[in-house]
This record gives sequence, structure tokens and C-alpha cells, in this order.
Amino acid sequence: MSIAICPGSFDPITKGHLDIIGRASTIFDKVIVAVAHNMEKKPLFTPQERIEFIEDALKDKNNIEIDSFTGLLVDYARKKNANAIIRGLRAVSDFEFEIQMALMNRRLHGDIVTAFMAANEKYAYLNSRIIKEIAQLNGDVSNFVTPLVEENLKKKFMNK
Ligand code: ADP
Repeated sequence: MSIAICPGSFDPITKGHLDIIGRASTIFDKVIVAVAHNMEKKPLFTPQERIEFIEDALKDKNNIEIDSFTGLLVDYARKKNANAIIRGLRAVSDFEFEIQMALMNRRLHGDIVTAFMAANEKYAYLNSRIIKEIAQLNGDVSNFVTPLVEENLKKKFMNK
């Protein structure tokens, strides 16, 4: 069985992420969406909240598992018997960081392939940070995130 991991912070998940995950799920038998516990990034949402949003967005897909991980991604990927790590590439600016990670991960664990998927041009300018900025300034993010995420962004910023 071919297994791919789509790792990320998903703080929160956007339609750009969902596009990549959806396409990966047509290529691999199983896709694991793995939420990183990366406290350095000072996330807006807790890992549990981020997982809930992903579960809600992907409730109709049956070959997608949602999980979280701490520590090295390659160790997690090995534990899950994954064949590939899928990363989305939006612009040339993503490339430098992504290639560094991919090459380092290959040094650490040569059996796991990192595969890049070109972003959907509809969402190529999207990232979670910009969504949070727009929501904080009361902008409309409904075209970029699910209704549940939109609702929770509003709640979060109302309380701040
Ligand atoms: P990280 O915190 O590791 O940067 P993110 O949660 O931002 O992770 O993103 C996870 C993955 O989704 C990365 O591979 C990233 O390139 C990809 N991604 C994020 N936004 C988009 C988008 N709009 N289109 C395509 N891929 C995206």
C-alpha cells in the first residue's frame, strides 16, 4: 500500500492545503495529514483545534487519516511506513526552504521520497499567515477557508 504524508502547521487549514491533500489522495492509497506541534511558530490555534478543522474539511474522504506529530518528520514518516512526503510549492520563494528540508530529510532517512506538488493557481498566493491577518482586520476570508475555520477565526479575534 502506498502511503503519503502531508505535513504542516495548518494554523489554520486553507483551501490551498486542501487542494494539495485532495490531489495527493488520488495518487496514493492512503494520505496522512500530519499536524506539527511546532511551538516556535506560536500558533493561533491549538493542535486539537487544527485537527478538528481538518477533520471537518475532509469528513467525506475515506483514504485520509489525520494525526499530529512531534519531533523529526522523518522519524514519524518511518513509524507510519510512509513512502512519500508531499509538499506544496507556491512560488520560487518556497523552493529554497523546501529543497533544504527535502535534502536534509533524505540524508536522515534515504527511503522516504519528498515529492513537490505545484499549487493550484487559484490559491498560489494563499498562506495561513495572510488569512489570519485578513481575519484580524475583519476582512472576508470565506473564499479561502471552510465555514468552520472562518467562524473560529472570527471567535478568536473577537476575544482578543
Ligand atoms: P509549514 O508550517 O511547514 O510551512 P504549512 O501549514 O504552511 O506548513 O503548509 C503545509 C504544506 O502546505 C506545505 O507543503 C506548504 O507548501 C503547502 N501549502 C500551504 N499553502 C499552500 C497553498 N496555498 N497552495 C499549495 N500548497 C500550500
